[in-house]
Amino acid sequence: FRGFTFGQHILKNPLIIQGIIQKSELKSTDVALEVGPGTGNLTVKLLESTKKVIACEVDPRMVAELQKRVMGTEYASHLQILCGDVIKMELPYFDVCVANIPYQISSPLVFKLLAHRPIFRCAVIMVQQEFAMRMVAGPGDPLYCRLSINCRLLSKCTHLMKVSKNNFKPPPKVESSVIRIVPHNPPPPVNFVEWDGLLRLCFTRKNKTLGAIFRQETVVQLLEQNLKTWCALNSKKFEEMPPVKETIEKVLGGEDGFGEKRSRTMDVDDFLKLLHLFNKEEIRFA
Ligand code: SAM
Repeated sequence: FRGFTFGQHILKNPLIIQGIIQKSELKSTDVALEVGPGTGNLTVKLLESTKKVIACEVDPRMVAELQKRVMGTEYASHLQILCGDVIKMELPYFDVCVANIPYQISSPLVFKLLAHRPIFRCAVIMVQQEFAMRMVAGPGDPLYCRLSINCRLLSKCTHLMKVSKNNFKPPPKVESSVIRIVPHNPPPPVNFVEWDGLLRLCFTRKNKTLGAIFRQETVVQLLEQNLKTWCALNSKKFEEMPPVKETIEKVLGGEDGFGEKRSRTMDVDDFLKLLHLFNKEEIRFA
C-alpha cells in the first residue's frame, strides 16, 4: 500500500478542514507554507484565503495529482510546489504554516519550524494526539519532556481540537490533534545548542534529582571532555581549571538548591538560571 511509507492519511471531513483554516487566521497578504499537501484538500482552501501557497510534498504522485487539481483554475499561479523531503529542505519565507503532517516527522518538523528565520507568525498543524499533549505539557505534568520545555522556551503552543481517526482515509492507528504554535518574537537570548545540551542531560532521567544525574561518572567525563575542548579554543590550561566535579558541587549545592530539584518540576526560568550558573564556571554542554 502506497500510503505506508509516507504516512498518507487524507483528511476527508470538510468541517475539520474549515476548522483548521479558521484557526489559522489567514490574511489575504499571507504566504502560507503547507507541509504534505497530499491530494490538496487543505491546499485549495489555503489558496482561497492567501496570496501564495508553497506546498512541500515528497511523493511525486501526489505532486502530479495536486498540479492537475489546480491546473486551469485562477489559483494555479499562486501555488508553488516544492517536491522533496521537507526535513532536508531549506524552507522559504512564509508567514503561516498550515499542515496535516505525516506523524513520523512531527518532532524534526517542529524543531525545524522553531529554528526557522525570519520568525513566522503562527503554525497550525495536525499531529498525533499524544505528541500534541507532550508539546503543551507544563512542569509537573506526567508528559512533560524536552519537547515540552523547548516549545515553552521558543513559543506559545496551544491545543486547538481533537480529531478522531475516522476523519481520515485510510484511518490512522492513533488519534490526532490540531495545535497552534506562536513563536516568541524576538526569540529568547539563549545559546540554543548549549541549552539543548543541558536539557538532554537533565531529561534523560527527569524523575531523578539533578544531583544524582550530575554525579554519574559518564556525565562528569562528558563535561570534562567539553571543558578540554573549551580550554583548547580559549588558550587555557585544562589542568589549571578547578576540577569539574567540584564545580558541579558548587553550582548544584548553591543557594538555589538545584541539586535536590528534578527536571519534571522545573520550568524555563529554572533551566535558564542553571545554564547561566554552569556557563559562568565555564562548564559547557556542547
Ligand atoms: N494534507 C493532506 C490531507 O490533509 O489530506 C495529506 C496529509 S498526509 C497525513 C501526509 C502527506 O505528507 C502525504 O501527502 C505525504 O506524501 C507527505 N509527506 C510525507 N513525508 C513527507 C516529507 N518528509 N516531506 C514532505 N511531505 C511528506
